[in-house]
Amino acid sequence: MNFDKRVLVTGGAGYIGSHACKALKKAGLFPVTFDNLVYGHRDAVKWGPLIEGDLTDLEEISAAVREVKPVAVMHFAAYAYVGESVKNPGKYYRNNVLGSLNLLEAMRDSGVDKLVFSSSCSTYGVPERVPISEGHTQNPVNPYGATKLMMERMMADFSNAHGLKFVALRYFNAAGSDPECEIGERHDPETHLIPLVLDAALGRRPFVTVFGEDYPTPDGTCIRDYIHVSDLAEAHLLALGYLDRAGERRAFNLGNGTGYSVKEVIRVAEQVSGRQVPVRVGARREGDPPQLVGDASLARKELGWNPRYGDLKMILSHAWEHRRKIAGIRN
Ligand code: UDP
Repeated sequence: MNFDKRVLVTGGAGYIGSHACKALKKAGLFPVTFDNLVYGHRDAVKWGPLIEGDLTDLEEISAAVREVKPVAVMHFAAYAYVGESVKNPGKYYRNNVLGSLNLLEAMRDSGVDKLVFSSSCSTYGVPERVPISEGHTQNPVNPYGATKLMMERMMADFSNAHGLKFVALRYFNAAGSDPECEIGERHDPETHLIPLVLDAALGRRPFVTVFGEDYPTPDGTCIRDYIHVSDLAEAHLLALGYLDRAGERRAFNLGNGTGYSVKEVIRVAEQVSGRQVPVRVGARREGDPPQLVGDASLARKELGWNPRYGDLKMILSHAWEHRRKIAGIRN
């Protein structure tokens, strides 16, 4: 055990956080998960200990930071359902903003000064141009995006006042699963396109609904930039290295720079699974920008990030293996 290299991972029992823990362990670091297990899974914490606690309780997170004495923190813990954030904004501001503020104060009080934050392309809102670069105006169109932007602002203020060093990683659409299939995407309720499409292919759902086909895009469905979760995890490690090399404060987009429409995702899922996906066309979902595609050239240049699983077919085939595993079709 390398106690000199402990990294506190809030939300380490969740989808992206658990993949980051695996990457940390592989790189010789020691991930300690802090998670309230509301959406996270106890059995996804495989690469270090779990501290069960809630970020909205300042004393709980302060005690964890004091006890773990991490060299850095990776902060994933957040509620992340866009639709729910529109209907119940208080839940999102309380958990995501208050929780993050408590983490910043706990870090300040224990002298922990390095933070990698799980931000989002939803901080940009409806883009004025694509691909989106980091200098694009940030004007979120839903409370979820607003909570992520608020944390970016709080980190900048804590940096000015207390010397916090941070990297905000603005993800586009996290997708796929650990290639070794040890962990994967398990949201409950599931709202994300790829797991829903694969479940429809497996017959675990009767059909998938396409949310609108009257968008100003070539086939009328929304375009997103899907990025493999293991590539995201790798970027977090590189961001830690960046802070170690005296990087002070920076935001980076993480995406592949290629957009795929909902109908294209369904087509590739059919190829990968060899099954037909039953589809119905429904109404638009509130708060969905027509097109989100990221320019991640800054992360490539400054972090040396080089996504390994950029191909949508690869992303879907890893997700398919994991979906079959949780459906009990493979080990
Ligand atoms: N989507 C869809 N049907 C679904 C779920 C999602 O058509 O059942 C669309 C959604 O409108 C968006 C894209 O798929 O354009 C990706 O949605 P997801 O919820 O996976 O991620 P988001 O873009 O909201 O972060």
